[in-house]
Amino acid sequence: MAPKPFYSDGLKFSCTRCSACCRFDPGFVFLSDSDINRLAQAVQMHYTDFIETYCRWIPSGGGYEQLSLKERSNYDCIFWKDGCTVYDARPLQCRTYPFWASIVLHKESWEAVKAECPGIDQGQRHSKEEIAALLQMREKDPIVVRRR
Ligand code: SF4
Repeated sequence: MAPKPFYSDGLKFSCTRCSACCRFDPGFVFLSDSDINRLAQAVQMHYTDFIETYCRWIPSGGGYEQLSLKERSNYDCIFWKDGCTVYDARPLQCRTYPFWASIVLHKESWEAVKAECPGIDQGQRHSKEEIAALLQMREKDPIVVRRR
């Protein structure tokens, strides 16, 4: 039987829209196929043109690369301009934050992101079932990869 998650009573999170996770620091926003389709439609581009214009390939080991959004030279997300310009079509990675497998794995990893995100442990409580559904969404919608 799988061990009981530390968040069996749920976890509190409400985004304050401070944009700290979208700007200032280098990072990756990895994209699934459905992310690309949704974003390409939002900016009225074809799938391959969208990848050419807004994406970059990140080496991921084992001879593969993963698809991520580009960022600006100051590390802002390519789609950040006084807020997220594609909010309704934003990638699953952004939609499901901070309920990522790597963050909710342990109480320590959840606590560690508090320093970066003022929404953690604030506001709305998300149930264990809701968190499990978000984790499943990511699992079912894998990041686009290619051979190097
Ligand atoms: S750092 Fe947290 S509170 Fe700020 S925009 Fe990102 S998710 Fe929202």
